[in-house]
Amino acid sequence: MKRAPTRKRAKDQRVQRSNIRRTQAAGKSRARAQSRRVAITGAAPAPAHETAAIFPRAARRRLIGLALAMALTGAAIIALRDAPRWPSADAQAQAAADAAWREATRSAAVAAQDAVRIGIVSGHRGHDSGAVCDDGLTEAALNFAHATRVAEVLRAEGYIVDVLDEFDPRLRGYRARALLSIHADSCARINDFATGFKVARAAHSRVPDEADRLVACLTARYGARTGLRFHANTVTRDMTQYHAFDEIAPETPAAIIETGFMDLDRQLLEGRPQVVAQGIVEGMLCFLRGETP
Ligand SMILES: [Zn+2]
Repeated sequence: MKRAPTRKRAKDQRVQRSNIRRTQAAGKSRARAQSRRVAITGAAPAPAHETAAIFPRAARRRLIGLALAMALTGAAIIALRDAPRWPSADAQAQAAADAAWREATRSAAVAAQDAVRIGIVSGHRGHDSGAVCDDGLTEAALNFAHATRVAEVLRAEGYIVDVLDEFDPRLRGYRARALLSIHADSCARINDFATGFKVARAAHSRVPDEADRLVACLTARYGARTGLRFHANTVTRDMTQYHAFDEIAPETPAAIIETGFMDLDRQLLEGRPQVVAQGIVEGMLCFLRGETP
């Protein structure tokens, strides 16, 4: 083998050493850079075995937390589903029952009131004028003024009131808690004693006790309200044999009232019809409510 010339060998050795120095310098530079990174972050990069252990631990924590949360949620749902509902269900049922009871009571009250029908005959209406004063005032007009006021007040009290004509077709077999025919006495100046009112029932009533109580109530209350005296000795056969008494249902208590004399009691009958009506209403209510006359 032929040996290389010494000069060349020396040059090759220089190049080799230079390469070694460059490699060493590069290695020192990398080491310096590495040490600078460590200084900046303050922590050396975790060793490989540690980095592998951290993620499983955090995941376990998260999984445990999630499982706990799910368990708590499930328990809450079960607790809510199975919680006793009886108090609130009972309260609802009770409220519904109360409402139904109130409605039923109200309906019964309305029905009971509906059952109480009262008939008021407006004397002579639809047939003739009845008594007539010299100036043309008619009994029929007075009677109608009184009958309509009586009906109005009784309706306000919750009763069903029929205002009937003197020979009203509805009188045949008429059924009601009570029937009252309203009339007034003559306008002729008979004498100075021709003042006062009268009440009578049918002579042959099928419900005499009821009819008597109706008469007693009307007599007491009407007299008290109007101040008129009871004109007993002029109760005529026309009153006790009054035609309507024979037409209505026999179980309907009925009476007829002569509110006063159109001459001497005219100031009351014509001038204060509301007092006349109020006296009649109070007598009817006394009877309807079972009060002592
Ligand atoms: Zn009359």
